[in-house]
Amino acid sequence: MAEEELEILAGLNRAQREAVTETEGYVRVLAGAGSGKTRALSQRFAYLVNEIGIMPGNILCVTFTNKSATEMRKRIHLLTGDNDTGYINTFHGFCVSVLQEDSYAVQYPKSFLVLDNSDIDAMLKIIYEERQLSLRDMTFAKARDMIEIRKIFTEPRYYEDMIAMSLDGIKEKYDRAVEPADIIFYGYLYQEKKCFGLDYNDLIKFTLYIFEQKEELRLKWQQRLEYIMIDEFQDIDELQYRLMKILCGYHKNLFVVGDPDQTIYTWRGANIRYLLDFDQAFSPTKTIYMMENYRSTPEILAVANDLIAHNRNRIEKDLQPTLPCGESVLCASNASPEEEAKWIAQEIAKLHEREVPYRQIAVLYRAHYLTRSLEEVFLQAELPYTLYSGIHFFDRKEIKDALSYMRLIAYRDDLSFLRVANVPKRNLGERRMAFLQEYAAQNGCSLYEALRQSLDQELFQRTKAKALVELVEEFSASYSGRPVSEVLAALLDASGYERMLRTEGSQERLDNLAELKQAIYEYETSCGEEAMLEDYLSRIALLTNSDTAETGDKVKLMTVHAAKGLEFPYVFLCGLNEGIFPSRKTRTQQAMEEERRLAFVAVTRAQKRLYLSAASGLNFDASLRYPSRFLLELDDGLLEYAQPVPALTRQDAQAYIRDMDRRMAAANAPKKAAFAKGDRVLHRIMGDGEILAVNTDKGAYVIKFADIDTPREISFKAKLEKIL
Ligand code: ATP
Ligand code: MG
Repeated sequence: MAEEELEILAGLNRAQREAVTETEGYVRVLAGAGSGKTRALSQRFAYLVNEIGIMPGNILCVTFTNKSATEMRKRIHLLTGDNDTGYINTFHGFCVSVLQEDSYAVQYPKSFLVLDNSDIDAMLKIIYEERQLSLRDMTFAKARDMIEIRKIFTEPRYYEDMIAMSLDGIKEKYDRAVEPADIIFYGYLYQEKKCFGLDYNDLIKFTLYIFEQKEELRLKWQQRLEYIMIDEFQDIDELQYRLMKILCGYHKNLFVVGDPDQTIYTWRGANIRYLLDFDQAFSPTKTIYMMENYRSTPEILAVANDLIAHNRNRIEKDLQPTLPCGESVLCASNASPEEEAKWIAQEIAKLHEREVPYRQIAVLYRAHYLTRSLEEVFLQAELPYTLYSGIHFFDRKEIKDALSYMRLIAYRDDLSFLRVANVPKRNLGERRMAFLQEYAAQNGCSLYEALRQSLDQELFQRTKAKALVELVEEFSASYSGRPVSEVLAALLDASGYERMLRTEGSQERLDNLAELKQAIYEYETSCGEEAMLEDYLSRIALLTNSDTAETGDKVKLMTVHAAKGLEFPYVFLCGLNEGIFPSRKTRTQQAMEEERRLAFVAVTRAQKRLYLSAASGLNFDASLRYPSRFLLELDDGLLEYAQPVPALTRQDAQAYIRDMDRRMAAANAPKKAAFAKGDRVLHRIMGDGEILAVNTDKGAYVIKFADIDTPREISFKAKLEKIL
């Protein structure tokens, strides 16, 4: 059949058709926002399955967020009519699949736990209590970051210990640690190994380990994955790159799509070079360019093009509109964040009067904290909205509790046990828990097992421990093969959890549980009869808030990062102020360019109309707030001003921006050394010394002082005099 007649190719342009039908070898699509990259990717999946007859289970399709994976699965299901949608997942989700099959290769059980932030916090709590650390030593958020940084950058081979060492071996490291950071790090590794828990970093590291070290398994996966496709390739990091490079090593079919102007994760290790140098790493590569934009009006694209053109470090390209002209890009400079929120609410009300449904409207911002004034005004104005960032549905207490009950019957792990053993009250308070901790440590068993073995002890006589053990035993023996939603409903009933909420009158919590049951039910219907409790539990741990906000006719509030890859008819981009967007943490020109790319991602989400807003006034530290350079640098002719930036404010802002840029340049200027290697110098406090090395990148000398045994790094800024 000639290509033109294929239904699957209808509605695609030439470049997209090429992307869909060039199925063999290395193919790279370099194209701008809204040019149909993701659409081509999903059509390609359908083409492989429907036209070539490839089994979906032999295709790996990697998306950036769970939300896009879910959407892609739905689309593929529609296009292929097949229930088996293969491996359509995020990198982390795919790693869970690999480990569920092959975790024995790292001596982990198939029933490993995927840890999310609140699990990590629960572990930190145990460590802090055990070693008497306080939040003053380190907050949980800092501790989580520290652990991540050590795992990615400073101790990248930590996983070898986790795999090779016995639990006792890791515990010894923990016991020997003295510095809070070491205590926390090794304590965390110990806690993880104890419950066979894996956090997001471990998922990737362990999978890579399997592929790099276990030849047979590598070959199995390489042979299975005949076609690999990756969306948003501009934000791939080193580990993900290594992973997919190995995976495509057998069939050599790799298809990647990306847009260099939308790299927004270099702060987390993403590297644009993987996209730009793809053709050198994978030869021969066919590169396909897509020029036309199908998403936004010419007005919106003109603003997007003008904005991104201010980045120096980029390959020039303009987005070409295909849609007819529409409404102007509307801008407002407001007196305060409250005024700004009110303006947004007013404009939304106007749209709603024109019968635009709320769900077609998104408000995007740089940072979570900006939602406060928006939420206040929206609540007052009775404007329905949902927050795609903020408290995670799956972080809510009742949801965590319900999931912990399910984890307890599947894994009998300590984390879940600690969470629900005494909820509802079973008289298992601190004293009895302490006994169990002690017993478990002595006998090398889990807390649950400790309780099971201690039921006859006097200490547990006036408790409901026996009922709890009976509950767990009964459900453990009977859950497999039953629908997950049914297990949950029965468990919430038999455990007395729902009764407790009813007695407390917590209707909202009960509603949330109902929502959970609904979500599980939908999960079951989407993946057929094989929905296993363990699969569901590991999937849940990978979800983020942007995946789970409720539906309904509501305005969507989310960060720009969460909006990546999505599109909305009406977009408000708010908080366009220096210190907010660009963020005050921007310290280098490269970081400034990344902020601008982030603004570009925001702007290119809009289909019909874009609104930009800023607020003057004072920052919380009493400094003045200026409109963002991203707003000021736009050509005025491209904007309609609902409320213009006052001329004086504009002048002040420009002076402020120039000053900031100058300071940034000075701080980043290459550092000059006043002395050379071999020079002898005098330090006011340390005395005589000799310069052993000069490190210009760091701006420091390595000096061996006569009176000090080991050399020290001393900053260029220190006062030194040359000894002749
Ligand atoms: P981003 O870089 O933001 O991820 P993208 O390149 O992935 O964008 P898509 O999301 O695939 O772009 O497509 C943008 C919009 O254009 C979607 O609404 C899509 O349905 C539509 N579209 C894509 N290709 C075509 C086409 N050939 N004809 C008409 N509409 C199209
Ligand atoms: Mg896309």
